[in-house]
Amino acid sequence: MGKIKIMDDVLANKIAAGEVVEKCVSVVKELVENSVDAKADEIKIEVVQAGTKLIKVTDNGSGMDHDDAVVAFERHATSKLLDEMGLFRISSLGFRGEALPSISAVSQIVLKTSTGDVGTRLEINGGKIIKDEPSDARLGTEITVKNLFYNTPARLKYLSSVYTELANICEYVNKMALSYPDKKFTLISDDKVLLNTDGSGNLLKVIKEIYGLDVAKKMIKISVFNDDYDIDGYISYPEVTRSSRSHMITLVNNRVVRNTELNRAINDAYHTYKPETRYPIVVLKISTDPSLVDVNVHPSKLDIKFSNFEDLKELIKSGIKSVLDKTLLIPKVQTKNLDDVTPKVELEQLNLQRQNVINNNIIDYSIFDEPVLQVNEDITKYNQKDDENYDNDKVEITKEEKKVIMPEMYPVGLAKGTYIICHNELGLYMIDQHAAKERINYEGYLKAFANPKPDSIKMLFPITLEFPSNEFIIIKQNINILKDMHFDIEQSGINSFVIKEHPTWIKQGYEDESIKKLLEVLISEEKNFTIQKFREKAAIMLSCKMAIKANMNISMAEMEALIDDLRRCDNPYTCPHGRPTTIFYSNYELEKMFKRAM
Ligand code: ZN
Ligand code: ZN
Repeated sequence: MGKIKIMDDVLANKIAAGEVVEKCVSVVKELVENSVDAKADEIKIEVVQAGTKLIKVTDNGSGMDHDDAVVAFERHATSKLLDEMGLFRISSLGFRGEALPSISAVSQIVLKTSTGDVGTRLEINGGKIIKDEPSDARLGTEITVKNLFYNTPARLKYLSSVYTELANICEYVNKMALSYPDKKFTLISDDKVLLNTDGSGNLLKVIKEIYGLDVAKKMIKISVFNDDYDIDGYISYPEVTRSSRSHMITLVNNRVVRNTELNRAINDAYHTYKPETRYPIVVLKISTDPSLVDVNVHPSKLDIKFSNFEDLKELIKSGIKSVLDKTLLIPKVQTKNLDDVTPKVELEQLNLQRQNVINNNIIDYSIFDEPVLQVNEDITKYNQKDDENYDNDKVEITKEEKKVIMPEMYPVGLAKGTYIICHNELGLYMIDQHAAKERINYEGYLKAFANPKPDSIKMLFPITLEFPSNEFIIIKQNINILKDMHFDIEQSGINSFVIKEHPTWIKQGYEDESIKKLLEVLISEEKNFTIQKFREKAAIMLSCKMAIKANMNISMAEMEALIDDLRRCDNPYTCPHGRPTTIFYSNYELEKMFKRAM
């Protein structure tokens, strides 16, 4: 009655081609995925010296009977795939049955497993069963892999450093925990708990376990769909970013996939909300009919192809954008109570924040009992209405989504010739005048470029500009773009142009500089040129050039006008380079800092 069947040779060979145990994480992966297949909802992973000495996985899954346990270590056994079709379906976790014999060939294994009645204990050395005895009847499987590569010392040296091996294991287990919030994952490395999720099914709690409470508090729920795809998950406030792309995690039917185009869609949605070289933390669960995705037949199974991919990317982009649009994104200054500060174990390279695990007692879990996160509690009243809208049920993205507007605030003065100090009933704000002006200019230029006004300004003194011939050719090729913008520009010699009229959005006194900069952008955009990209780059460049600089004193009236204009922007929170325009000190934080409130 064994669940494991011997599969046919065609399939076996196909699989065997890529299936090699190379790293400790491949062993962890194999064992954990067996546990998932056995329907375990508690999976404990213990490693010693990053798994080189010991990897032990304990689960409460369905276990194996004696015959299945023995067959599991023979080649060409699998319970998952009975025909090749299975390979093309992502809903099955993977094709294994081949890896266990490979692992046992290069290690010493002790397997204890039971389906609930009599248990089995096997000892396998170098692929040979050396002991086969009855064992206790605890339902589930406990498998210990010791001394990996003990009999193939040459392979040992191909392992990366212990540190890298452990980082890979952590990354893998973190992603499994995110994939299965309803399963309890525990990862223990050399007796230290690195991850401990509660299996409650709450994705945000898993995010908290991995990234810490501070990050979890700054995640926003997202839930959108179209005809083919359902997307649920969390996206970080733009102020929470990482230097690596690896925190943009996409799951398709509960399986982590790595797809650069999905990542690009996520990153594009954050365009100008964050610096280009920083990346958000995003966990998106994409659910779809398995027939709409095609998984590459490779053991790592990370590559995936989607039907209606453009629609999916657009759904992700517009979904994230609309969530950001509906959220008040002014970074809030938060002081740490010095008494609460506990020694931190920083493992940034491991992407772990262990202190939450180590200092469980200081974590306030109550925040996670609320379905709606209380973020920026002082100012949520501005977007509560929208929160209700999208927390209730899934939201289909429409063009005319209502926006949250930045609260009204009143300037009291300028600090360091750069920061406008403002206040209102909620607290104190600081606005970076250059960043704010850049944002206002940027949105203004984009609008002007998209709908050029027919009128242009005649220049008193036409400008003649000369270029090296390669650059001249590029400008000449694209001269209609400039004409469409209402420049009067003509060739006026072998390698030069004369400009007699310019559009109205060019500021008086800055004609030369603006036109030169614009042409520079045009020349630099030679590769993969699109009009959108050109407008975008030109708008960002000009917005900075034309903005008030730091260290320039402006009058109270100018400050008021600036705040007014900023509040009218589509995204008033960041400059086009992704830096914040405004920072907020809540009344509560101010009172706490001055010890008026404890
Ligand atoms: Zn600038
Ligand atoms: Zn900027």
